[in-house]
Amino acid sequence: ATAKPRYQRVLVKLSGEALAGAKGYGIDLGVIDPIAKDIAKPRPWGWKFASVVGGGNIYRGLMAAEGGMDRARADYMGMLATVMNALALQTAIERAGPTARVLSAIPMPTVCEPYIRDKALDHLAKGRVVIFAGGTGNPFFTTDTAAALRAAEMDCQALFKATQVDGVYSADPAKDPNATRYDRLTYGDVLKQDLKIMDGAAIALARDSRIPIIVFSIKGQTGLALELQGKGSSTTIDG
Ligand code: UDP
Repeated sequence: ATAKPRYQRVLVKLSGEALAGAKGYGIDLGVIDPIAKDIAKPRPWGWKFASVVGGGNIYRGLMAAEGGMDRARADYMGMLATVMNALALQTAIERAGPTARVLSAIPMPTVCEPYIRDKALDHLAKGRVVIFAGGTGNPFFTTDTAAALRAAEMDCQALFKATQVDGVYSADPAKDPNATRYDRLTYGDVLKQDLKIMDGAAIALARDSRIPIIVFSIKGQTGLALELQGKGSSTTIDG
């Protein structure tokens, strides 16, 4: 028997990188499908699930600005990229079972719903997976900050940050065999030590809304399902 989840209302932040697969760019449904199945797994427990997707696999505003693009315009292009990822994730989630809706912070009514908080809450109440696209809708922000913002707006109990490793380490575990994983960090630790998990605005927002951030690995195919039951290995940022 599966244990009941610790959190029943969560938001998962998926970077564009997580959707890209081996090539490191573009969208690979072969990679998204297992993530979508993992998302669909705890549904019998009656949980509410939202997601914010990044766009870095397609476009990054800051990098484009370094190449000569106007920063704000490049950021708008980055936000458009997240909509493509959101539509791909919607497809994969619906293939795995649940109904999913995409809501974009940049209105695009022929493609998906515009972001309206009450609409999003309504979808969640009906058991639909809500995918937030378009970041915050503002340049100079990131989808990590959008994730903290939407988690607060949706009254989520936790913000799950998907990464390539199972938590936050003292050094890069791919390069340093002595790197150790932290079980728990405070928001203050992360900000003070400038640990590169999410940007400072995202951490501060989560702290102010008292939403724990759980850094877990997207690589294990049941990472999220286990994590929700408190059986996974991850780092919790709170306090
Ligand atoms: N972006 C933005 N405002 C936001 C969210 C995203 O301007 O609120 C732009 C920014 O240019 C960023 C790009 O969208 O580089 C893709 O988002 P992000 O880099 O956060 O994606 P991830 O790293 O999670 O794939």
